[in-house]
Amino acid sequence: MAGIQIQSKLPKVGTTIFTVMSQLAAKHQAINLSQGFPDFSCPQRLLDLVRQYMMEGYNQYAPMTGVPALLEQIRHKVAQLYGRNLSATDEITVTSGATEALFVAISTVVRPGDEVIMFDPAYDSYEPAVELNGGKSIHIPLMPEDYSIDWQRLQDCINDKTRLIIINSPHNPSGAVLSAQDLDRLAEITRQRGILILSDEVYEHIVFDGGVHQSVLRHEELAQRSFVVSSFGKTYHTTGWKVGYCIAPKALTHEFRKIHQYVTFCTVTPIQLALADFMAEVPEHYLELPQFYQKKRDYFCELLKQTKFRFRPAQGTYFQLVDYSELSSEKDVDFARYLTQEIGVAAIPISVFYEEE
Ligand code: PMP
Repeated sequence: MAGIQIQSKLPKVGTTIFTVMSQLAAKHQAINLSQGFPDFSCPQRLLDLVRQYMMEGYNQYAPMTGVPALLEQIRHKVAQLYGRNLSATDEITVTSGATEALFVAISTVVRPGDEVIMFDPAYDSYEPAVELNGGKSIHIPLMPEDYSIDWQRLQDCINDKTRLIIINSPHNPSGAVLSAQDLDRLAEITRQRGILILSDEVYEHIVFDGGVHQSVLRHEELAQRSFVVSSFGKTYHTTGWKVGYCIAPKALTHEFRKIHQYVTFCTVTPIQLALADFMAEVPEHYLELPQFYQKKRDYFCELLKQTKFRFRPAQGTYFQLVDYSELSSEKDVDFARYLTQEIGVAAIPISVFYEEE
């Protein structure tokens, strides 16, 4: 019998580099620095709360938009940190990880023929979501020195088809962060055409050296036409729980929810309840996160200084880019393989975050 013939809707997509490198790391028993998640546990109290809610029977569907207590905690946090007063009922939606929020936000606004601008190196879930909705991804490389935005190039890429611009700060994988001036610049460039913004802020609480996270939610003008996405996975060391959220003005949220309700409908109930309690009980958790991760970054960078790797310490996130040109002239994919197999340390080659030629 002939096999099923199916024309791929995502012909360029294969197994992600994270899976490939992690498998290689396991095979060679390498230290795995290639997977973007913590190797330590979340707070015990949070685990106790999840257990408590499960045992008390909170195991059925949650409300489609999110558990009210969690929506309220998100509202409260955004008011405290970014000075923005949101409506918990109309502007916040709890999602199954930031990944779902990104996919749904893109599906909400991108139609066939629309162009979506993203900056390379770009997180790998953006482009497939754009393509599945018939859109075209326009890739602009970040500046090689410091991974800042090339504003002239952005301006040159904007046209009547530009529907959405995706930004990510703090940035995976460079660790670069956007400034308040950057947001002003973005507002200025996109103002005339009313281009929408999708702001991926999953590392919002991991910013170093006393830096301040410039959330789009702080920016009065941009916030009016943006989706802002975050993830509890990054903040509470629980990436496997896949709980995130999307904040957007009422009209955008209304349309966003129409899709969200048919993608996942709702997100895991006892975890939402536990996160809501934990946020209320331990608000300092996310306030202390920069210090917590900075110690780790500094320790890692001190060790790196003793090597031939060259680097700028990341300004945020839990990633650190290194330049290995003094060690090898191999391509980064080959060098990453060599590091894993021969040296016993797995890392991610940055080239995979760039548009394929
Ligand atoms: N955006 C970026 C930049 C990320 O690094 C990640 C996680 N690796 C996500 C989104 C997805 O977050 P979540 O696990 O909550 O779906």
